[in-house]
Amino acid sequence: MNAPADIQHLLPQVDQRPIPEAFLAALQQRFGAQCSTALAVREQHGRDESVFSVPPPAAVVFAGSTQDVADAVALCAQHRVPVIPFGVGSSLEGHLLAVQGGISIDLGRMNRVLSINAEDLTVTVQPGVTRKAVNEAVKGEGLFFPIDPGADASIGGMTATRASGTNAVRYGTMRENVLALEVVTARGEVIRTGTRAKKSSAGYDLTRLMVGSEGTLGVITEISLKLYPLPEAISAAVCSFPSIAAAVHTVIQVIQLGVPIARCELIDAGTVRMVNAHSKLGLREEHMLLMEFHGSPASVKEQAETVQEIAADHGGNAFEWATTPEERTRLWTARHNAYFAAIQSKPGCRAVSTDTCVPISRLADCLLDSVAEADASGLPYFLVGHVGDGNFHFGYLIDPDNAEERRVAEDLNVKLVTRALALEGTCTGEHGVGLHKMGFLLDEAGAGAVDMMRTLKRALDPDNILNPGKIFS
Ligand SMILES: Cc1cc2nc3c(=O)[nH]c(=O)nc-3n(C[C@H](O)[C@H](O)[C@H](O)COP(=O)(O)OP(=O)(O)OC[C@H]3O[C@@H](n4cnc5c(N)ncnc54)[C@H](O)[C@@H]3O)c2cc1C
Repeated sequence: MNAPADIQHLLPQVDQRPIPEAFLAALQQRFGAQCSTALAVREQHGRDESVFSVPPPAAVVFAGSTQDVADAVALCAQHRVPVIPFGVGSSLEGHLLAVQGGISIDLGRMNRVLSINAEDLTVTVQPGVTRKAVNEAVKGEGLFFPIDPGADASIGGMTATRASGTNAVRYGTMRENVLALEVVTARGEVIRTGTRAKKSSAGYDLTRLMVGSEGTLGVITEISLKLYPLPEAISAAVCSFPSIAAAVHTVIQVIQLGVPIARCELIDAGTVRMVNAHSKLGLREEHMLLMEFHGSPASVKEQAETVQEIAADHGGNAFEWATTPEERTRLWTARHNAYFAAIQSKPGCRAVSTDTCVPISRLADCLLDSVAEADASGLPYFLVGHVGDGNFHFGYLIDPDNAEERRVAEDLNVKLVTRALALEGTCTGEHGVGLHKMGFLLDEAGAGAVDMMRTLKRALDPDNILNPGKIFS
């Protein structure tokens, strides 16, 4: 994009390091056909779902084992070449872009479920296993893994971004659900963090340090996760509201009353229209909450009755139930496809995604003014939210070649984040910092905390080879 001066500061700082010939030769000798320098392969690994565009990495290594990862990273360390771990590439904030050059390590072939420990409610997997594959593997044991970012992301990528999704309101995020890791360090050594025990006071919590580190502190090669028994009863319902405010006040009350709702998602009327067009659904084209209740039949009934009463007090229409597993899957698939439904509503567009999260009591203050700003801007957008967590996403739909649309979208994002921080919230509830939210991290955490992060990074990765130029400059 030929950007005018006023959005130059929004573009990534690209400073790709030269790749030594000797390094590429050694890489090809060690990995043979597992290493590709084909442009199409490099381009596929050098982009994500963000609006940024950066020249691709110099090569892609398809790792098949922890030893492959350790050898690739050791070679990178020897030649001071950057290395960017790659899961399935669904991240949204420029996490994967090779701003300082280097190579990509694709973990997709490390896709084995290593052990299911049904008695302990844990599973241990390689990083390239996707969330849906984990669920396929454990459902025969009557268990499930609840974390569900919209995309069928890899468990390694989800761990590295501290992902969550629609179930987090009840089951927590990757932070609460990762027990132990195997990690390849910046020197190419293999370490283990944590155990399968439910709790531990053994020294610094390196597992939690790695969860959310976005490939900047180590390459994750094995993950032990918590599992949950499949609920005895599950009910999903949609409820339409006369205004976004009515829906939001319903959610606030539901959470404040301690109803253990499993999913509680807001979709605004415009986005429902996009979802209907994309997924051929006949949902009422009004602002809606999409909810799910888990538990015993009696507890599900009780939860649903409580929420119905609260919704009715706020003008919500009678619940429409999705009773069969097929209907539920169709509804949640449509919710997960809202992003793609929106992208298809404006051909050629990209989405500038927001990810603010605020304490539940501040949700209305944060969301309603931001909706008014987005409406006034004239930009088309989608709005979905894991509102039970105080987390919501606008996706401002822009033509990536139109600098003015880009500027308007980024201005809206700045106003939204500023508001969320003033309300004691965060610039990113689940997508991570990547490139796009680096400035906001400084505003949120402050210079002292970001300096502490830099100190950790320097100690663990002194040559700055692990996904450099991300999270902070
Ligand atoms: C339609 C859509 C909906 C989404 N909805 C949600 C949502 O509801 N909640 C949510 O949290 N996210 C959501 N996301 C974002 C995305 O799916 C998550 O960030 C996901 O966790 C990324 O996983 P991935 O396998 O695609 O990782 P990638 O995009 O491949 O990588 C992401 C980051 O993790 C690092 N990484 C990957 N694998 C490893 C590894 N093994 N070791 C160390 N670092 C690694 C990469 O270097 C990069 O920095 C959505 C994305 C899309 C496109």
